[in-house]
Amino acid sequence: SPKIGVIIWVMVKKPKGEVRVRLAPSPTGPLHLGTARTGLFNWLFARQNGGKFILRIEDTDKERSEKRFEEGIIEGLSWLGLNWDEGPVFVNRESRILNHEKIKDKKYIGEYGPYRQSERAKIYKKYLQKLLDEKKAYFCYCTKEELEAQRQIMMAEGLPPKYNEHCRNSPQDEGRKPQVIRFLTPEIRVDFDDMVRGKVVFDAGLIGDMVIAKDLETPLYNFGAVIDDYEMKISHVIRGEDHLSNTPKQILIQRALGFPDLIYGHLPLILDSNRAKLSKRSAETSLLNYRDKGYLPEAMVNFMVLLGWHPNDSKEIFSFDELIKTFDIGKVQKAGAIFDHEKLDWLNGEHIKKMDLEKLAYILKPIIEEKGFVFDLEFMKKVLVSESSRMKLLSDFWPSAGFFFELSVYEVKLLKWKDETLPDVKIILEKIFEALDSFNLKSFSQDTLKTKLEGLASEFGRGGVFWPLRVALSGKSASPDPIQIAAILGKKETLRRVKIALEKLEEFNEIKFDEST
Ligand code: GLU
Repeated sequence: SPKIGVIIWVMVKKPKGEVRVRLAPSPTGPLHLGTARTGLFNWLFARQNGGKFILRIEDTDKERSEKRFEEGIIEGLSWLGLNWDEGPVFVNRESRILNHEKIKDKKYIGEYGPYRQSERAKIYKKYLQKLLDEKKAYFCYCTKEELEAQRQIMMAEGLPPKYNEHCRNSPQDEGRKPQVIRFLTPEIRVDFDDMVRGKVVFDAGLIGDMVIAKDLETPLYNFGAVIDDYEMKISHVIRGEDHLSNTPKQILIQRALGFPDLIYGHLPLILDSNRAKLSKRSAETSLLNYRDKGYLPEAMVNFMVLLGWHPNDSKEIFSFDELIKTFDIGKVQKAGAIFDHEKLDWLNGEHIKKMDLEKLAYILKPIIEEKGFVFDLEFMKKVLVSESSRMKLLSDFWPSAGFFFELSVYEVKLLKWKDETLPDVKIILEKIFEALDSFNLKSFSQDTLKTKLEGLASEFGRGGVFWPLRVALSGKSASPDPIQIAAILGKKETLRRVKIALEKLEEFNEIKFDEST
């Protein structure tokens, strides 16, 4: 009804109390695009509400958690610009310089740490003991084999398989070893208002007495998350829809411990073009691999926010600041979001075009230096005026603009325009050389060159003039306008390249001459 709609709207628009949201990744693999998107939505929500964005590392699975994956998470979020207010300290070169005093010798920023679950065992133990003492949890002695036998019986009776509550009801034989700790799950209806999905209802009777810890020292995800969300004063839990079925379990544990309610928002799954859950087989899922392939963080952020959210109008290109103004968690769609690679490439190209040339130049600096060239900002900016609109990926730069730095080897025949002979080409190119040489250094600009070369073009034909000049200057058959290239290269380098072409033609004539004698 409209009334409920308004209530939800008010709740979403104006959260009471401080907004504290978290991203709680498990470092068991490379930072996934879906996790990064969850981080982005949380980050935006925090920034829109003057709240805090917290990074918590959920590394309770000791076998699968690895330090390098944690580092990847931290690196990936930092690359995107999703800075967190509390969590592990990220000591990169910049932050060490900027923040030296504040973070020196510190592992975490924020007062609710440690922000790694592996260091919070004591805290969990306290609450596990509390539940046990209050008879809201109990040790379960059933072995794997016994549980399997129970399951078979229930299935044979046509019942949904869940724990048969054996250890809830019967005292244990002396000497048996507890296997796990189970939560006494009440058989009630659990409902909550989801910021994305609206009202969600669950029948907790289907859950059964769930396992919340292997032992007092080893809580499982659903328990650890509840304790941490409470202890870290989290107000809103925004996470992927794959966690929807965990929410009623977490709510029941919260209530058993007397913790206040949280507000939830479950983000739609990311799907591939066949509407299957995005996987490594259908797309690149590792965020940092996008960086390595030449995508900009601005483009990734823009792309990820559109995986599930759309503005009211048809605007598609967004900066961070614009997103903070327009993003609306209440308008996130319920249906799965389709991953569209072409769109990502397009967005990347658009963000490259929009970028300040000096900034773009510095981003490309490592590529220039890796190729063995000295980085010259002014020259780079000139090159980028011509090139930035042609690039989709940063990695397109060198294949398309490398010739500005280094003329590659080309075959003399490439200089030939249509059915002209090479000696004809040589005559025209000599005229071009003369024309170019007549400028003094200062007047060697696109406009003046254009006037002069257009003059030659009216005499010898446009193709006849501009084709060999293009090849001489770029070594390629496709390139920007040769006049533009000449202006960027400057007089000296332009003449040097035309000369190289003339020498090639010269050599070719000599070979011809030798052959005919
Ligand atoms: N560690 C969980 C994950 O990686 C976090 C889920 C949550 O946000 O509660 O998906």
